[in-house]
Amino acid sequence: MIQLIKGFKDILPEEVALWQQIEKTAADIFEDFGFREIRIPMMERTELFARSIGQDTDIVEKEMYTFADRKGDLLTLRPEATASVVRAYIQHKLYTPDPVRKLYTIGPMFRRERPQKGRYRQFYQINAEVFGVASPYIDAQLIIMLAVLFERLMIKDIKAHINSLGCPQCRPAFKKILGDFISSKIDRLCTDCRRRKDRNPLRVLDCKVPACRQAMADAPALTDHICEACREHFNTVQEILNTQGVEYILDKGLVRGLDYYTRTTFEIQTSALGAQNAIAGGGRYDRLVHALGGPEIPAIGFAIGLDRLVEVVLQQERSLGRGPDVFIAALGEKSRQMAFDWSCDLNRDGISTEMEFADKSLKSQMKRAHRLNSAHVLIVGENELAKGEIILRNMNTKEQHALTIEGLVKSVKDRIRGDL
Ligand code: AMP
Repeated sequence: MIQLIKGFKDILPEEVALWQQIEKTAADIFEDFGFREIRIPMMERTELFARSIGQDTDIVEKEMYTFADRKGDLLTLRPEATASVVRAYIQHKLYTPDPVRKLYTIGPMFRRERPQKGRYRQFYQINAEVFGVASPYIDAQLIIMLAVLFERLMIKDIKAHINSLGCPQCRPAFKKILGDFISSKIDRLCTDCRRRKDRNPLRVLDCKVPACRQAMADAPALTDHICEACREHFNTVQEILNTQGVEYILDKGLVRGLDYYTRTTFEIQTSALGAQNAIAGGGRYDRLVHALGGPEIPAIGFAIGLDRLVEVVLQQERSLGRGPDVFIAALGEKSRQMAFDWSCDLNRDGISTEMEFADKSLKSQMKRAHRLNSAHVLIVGENELAKGEIILRNMNTKEQHALTIEGLVKSVKDRIRGDL
């Protein structure tokens, strides 16, 4: 039998309701914050990712699904969304007449990482990007928007980590200071970090190898070396978060993998997921629009790992997934025919239904309704038909109501809508 590709997964029907609910919750909140959806392709020219994410990153070095198409063009399945959103922003001149654009997008990303729990080769992200605002207010607002989303999803077990990565004025000097520190610890570092030391020393700060973590525990912090403008920007972000009551942790080790970040960077972490503890990450990338051929327009964004978010919500045992509004338990052929007509009419009116088509006992049908997590059961048997009364049972409250066959669809609808 042909199986799934390693690191890929099916999202089965039982799980999809929760995915949809989370996606909708995020979209609703983002729209309230002034964001509009953009849909971008799943594949781009390889060069776009190589130039934006950076040659020395894990993604570009070893994780991209890249291939030559039939004409020899080098294409890549997108490993992240920011580069594509920036490309679209520039290509369609979305900066005219007003440079400020708030965009979000939801969809799959592809990275050939080592698969494990919470880490897949096709995974899903919800991305939000703001173009044209240099002010620290927007940095704070994005973190606040994430806090609102997690609050609405009733996720408590999370912490916002924030850091500043400085800017092209102050970061080079820090890289030198950090490089000297790394040299003094070089014997204790893993081979990857030894290689990173010259090409991308900041990455040594977020290496997960325990020996490297220990060696780097008292490494200099970028925030002690950023320039005055960057410091002021970062202080304002913190002041706004304080005013808004959003808790955060200053995390000097938060450098994130991608080259294009400047100034504020942040990650939302949870202790509910084990090793893969980041459910969202983002930061400012003021130089990227220009670097990809657009005007000098600042930008900032984040990506939420949807797979991990679903897992956290599931773990909190508050399954938001729902079963049918009504399960129709029909007994006997005549009841089944009527039940089928009613179910079609209810579906037309926006009520979801399920029914049993085989000849099963009431007990077994009730069991099935339970298993499907049905909110109500409509019981249609020969006796009920003879009496002209159909029972509607609320599976939550166990309340039962006898409804007349005359106008049944309407009365079922009214009852259900009343219960919702
Ligand atoms: P990044 O684009 O690497 O900043 O990732 C943003 C978020 O996407 C992370 O915080 C994770 O929640 C999620 N994520 C990244 N890589 C994976 C992966 N391989 N599998 C599942 N989720 C991922």
